[in-house]
Amino acid sequence: MNRVYIKTYGCQMNERDSEQVASDLRHRGYSIVDTEHDADVVLLNTCSVRDQAEQKAIGKAGYLKKRKRENPNFVIGVMGCMAQNHGSTLVDRLPDLDLVVGTQKFHRVPDHLDNLIQSLNGQGPRPSSIIDLDAEEGSQNTIRDHLGKKGQVSAFVSIMQGCNMNCAFCIVPKTRGRERARPIEEIVDEVTRVAESGVKEVTLLGQIVTSYGRREFPVVGGKSPFVQLLEKIQDVKGIERIRFTSPHPRGFKQDLVEAYRDLSKLCEYIHLPLQSGCDKTLRAMNRPYTKDRYREIVDSLREMVPSMYFSTDIIVGFPGETEADFNETAAFFDEIRYDMAYIFKYSIRTGTPAETMPDQIPQEEKERRNQVLLDLLHKHSLARNEGLLGTTEQVLVEGPAKKGDKYVGHTRGWRNAIFDANPRLVGQLVDLKIDRATASTVYGDLVLAGVDA
Ligand code: SAM
Repeated sequence: MNRVYIKTYGCQMNERDSEQVASDLRHRGYSIVDTEHDADVVLLNTCSVRDQAEQKAIGKAGYLKKRKRENPNFVIGVMGCMAQNHGSTLVDRLPDLDLVVGTQKFHRVPDHLDNLIQSLNGQGPRPSSIIDLDAEEGSQNTIRDHLGKKGQVSAFVSIMQGCNMNCAFCIVPKTRGRERARPIEEIVDEVTRVAESGVKEVTLLGQIVTSYGRREFPVVGGKSPFVQLLEKIQDVKGIERIRFTSPHPRGFKQDLVEAYRDLSKLCEYIHLPLQSGCDKTLRAMNRPYTKDRYREIVDSLREMVPSMYFSTDIIVGFPGETEADFNETAAFFDEIRYDMAYIFKYSIRTGTPAETMPDQIPQEEKERRNQVLLDLLHKHSLARNEGLLGTTEQVLVEGPAKKGDKYVGHTRGWRNAIFDANPRLVGQLVDLKIDRATASTVYGDLVLAGVDA
């Protein structure tokens, strides 16, 4: 009864939350297994950002209920954003659910499972579904432990929870609550611990990292709490690379631009959500910036670090987005020359302001606009990678590639790289001489002189 499989949907933050639940469960004596077939308990850590993600999780829960019919002691739980979004109505829809745990209650999962399993073993009354969705003060501080996987070179670190923005399309403020920051010292301690276990690269996670600690901690010497945090992590021995996701254009100030000049470990890759390149659409989305302001940030970053790589989130087919509005977005997208982008087709989210906006865009038109941006992304990503031909880039060797006998790593600019290596090089920063490039990947040979291979 103690083998648990956790399936994660959605973003890096969900992956990080799942890792914390896995770590808590391990400490409680559960074992974490790699497939649902080996499990006595399946926990789905869900995403509500788009309807498709919710439908996938509902489909999976529906499929799993067959197993419960065969084995009444089999436990199914839903955690995270979808649990928070739909609450007890999830159980009306999926009566076989044993556990529904919200985004501020991940740390309660071991207690709930213990209670459920005791009852199922006949040591208590047959339980009804456990539903735990309340807000809990300090819950952001519970996402702090790692599984310490052997050979792990890169780790996510959650620095805050929640979002205070009111983007018209977005369900996240409902599912994740108001912004709550973790103390700087606790984050630095966590980064130090992962560094001691061999991790070389950390990615700091928050819905809007540029809002980190805005209300809790003071600005010091003109530096925001987020930049102060970056400076402290720069000093952590063993950490070689720092990344973060996501900043917001509104809170992107000069101190953060200068951090790219001053902090050698801060990688020259930035994921800066745009959502739309048309001011009218940005206003309708309730995104508090213009495309001119966005361009200013990009220009100041490029001025500071000419080789800076840019990535973004963008939504096509927001209600009321006309052909002319979309063309403006496409032209801006082309102008910025993104190296990477997550392009989303607008998905109606119940309870958000955009749900009831007129002029919803037909699905085929969303598909077409999506393809236009994908083609532009392909053009720029390929050009950027081809520009690296013949150059030498530092890669962090992450491990064997999924297919074949090669190894995989990333450059500082988050270009995916494939090369020959050996297990001793995993976790090392090595130069790569690039001799082939596609839009998604660069290939080449490691320059091993002076490297402990
Ligand atoms: N916190 C980040 C920000 O506001 O800049 C974004 C986090 S959100 C989980 C990830 C991305 O999902 C968003 O940036 C947006 O592009 C996309 N997204 C959110 N709601 C959406 C919706 N209703 N339909 C399609 N895409 C959506």
